Parts: sequence; structure tokens; C-alpha cells
Amino acid sequence: MRKEQHRGTLPFPLKQYGKTALGAPLLYAPCKQKCTLLAIAGIHGEEAETTFLLSRILRLFAEPLQSVAFVLCANPDGVALGTRGNSNGVDLNRNFPTANWSPKTTLSKATLESKRITELSPGKTPASEAETKYLIKLIRKLQPAEILSIHSPLACVDAPAVTPLTHFLTEVSQTPHKKNIGYPTPGSLGTWCGENSIHCVTWELPRLAPEILAQKFARKVAVYFSMALMLASLAASGLYFGFNECGTMFSALNDVGFKT
Ligand SMILES: [Zn+2]
Repeated sequence: MRKEQHRGTLPFPLKQYGKTALGAPLLYAPCKQKCTLLAIAGIHGEEAETTFLLSRILRLFAEPLQSVAFVLCANPDGVALGTRGNSNGVDLNRNFPTANWSPKTTLSKATLESKRITELSPGKTPASEAETKYLIKLIRKLQPAEILSIHSPLACVDAPAVTPLTHFLTEVSQTPHKKNIGYPTPGSLGTWCGENSIHCVTWELPRLAPEILAQKFARKVAVYFSMALMLASLAASGLYFGFNECGTMFSALNDVGFKT
């Protein structure tokens, strides 16, 4: 782990996987071996805290991880403009080519307490947006078994199955596991993953200031990521590790100098 004084910058250069509608580079942090987990933040431009948290996690490491790749911001134009959608006003998380993709206007809330009445386009056609197309291309190239898609601030872990990652995130963020978010999400990344045999875990962060999110979660998630390869192979062989076992491993890692 990097010393705190060195965590101001990213530890290694990111690679470009495409270009946004406004011409910004789409970037990812590759891993050393086969990617088992791809962590994605910032697909909704109004959720910039997800990018901040994932960047803080990445900046704890001195070099690429063995099996976890990162997309710190899947919608850089949206983050730059401060809008949920991209520069074309499209909600990218409704633009994936799924069986249930719909041209109907998608609705979101302005705040947690608001009604779901803010309108956005799902795109003219499925995968009409550059950001969606390039993200699909990257996922097909990396072929992760699992995707972690970070959103905020609904405070839950939305995933079709309980995997070590699902279990870990519900424990670490003290939020419930939900098999679906409770309203239709045609054309979402999660639905597309399901149709392409990838387990997608949507982590809806609790409604907290970015610094608190980093304080609460960055180190624990970093430790989980560093064990992801081992956990994936244990899960594949039918062995299941819950959070308590992970806790024991955290202690062991601390003993060998895995300090943050
Ligand atoms: Zn979101």
C-alpha cells in the first residue's frame, strides 16, 4: 500500500478505451492478470462521489491489481456538466442493448425525497451513445466474471445473487441486499450484464459526504479487491467466505504490513 503522502496522484497511467460525445478520453485502470472484477463509477454524472471513492481506493495501491480493473468515470461529460445524463441528455444506464430496452422517457428523482419525475432520454436506439458502446467493448475485451457498478445515494446492494462481493458490501456498508431496485430499469448495465452471463452488483452508496464515504469504505474495499482473485477461485470451487472470514484475513494482512 502507498504511503499517505504519495496518494495525491494515480499510481500508474490509465489506458484509453474510447472517447465521449464531447471528445473526452474514456479511461480505465487495467489489471496484471485476467480480470475477474471490473469496478465502474460515475455512469451517472450527478453521482461524482462514486468517482471520488473509487479513485481513493485505487490510489491506495502502488501498482495495478492482479485481477481488478477500474473505470473511475464512465460518463466524464456528465460529471463535467453536472448532469445525470451525458452531453446528449441520455441516461447511459438506460442505453444498454437489452431485450427490455425502451424508447420511453426515463424518470429519476432530484433528491431522495422527491417524486420520480425528472425526465431523461434512454437514447435514440439501444447503445446509441459513444460512452455505452465503448464500455460494452471494454467489458467484452476484459471479460470479467463480475462487475461492481457504483451509484448513490439509495443505500442498498442490488444484485441478482449473493456472492462474496454482495455479502461483503452489505456487511461493510450496513445496507440491505435487494434482488432488484424496486422499479423498472430497462436498458440498464445490470440487465445487460444478466443477459451476457456477468454478475452485476450495483452498490448504491448511502447518502454521505464524499470524505465520509472514503473514510468508511476505501480501505476495506481496497483490502477486498486485493483478495478478489483468491475469493473468486474459492467461490468457483464451491467454498464461500463471508465477511467474518474476510475480517480475519484483514487482520492477517495488517500483520504483514498491509497498512493504509
Ligand atoms: Zn445512479
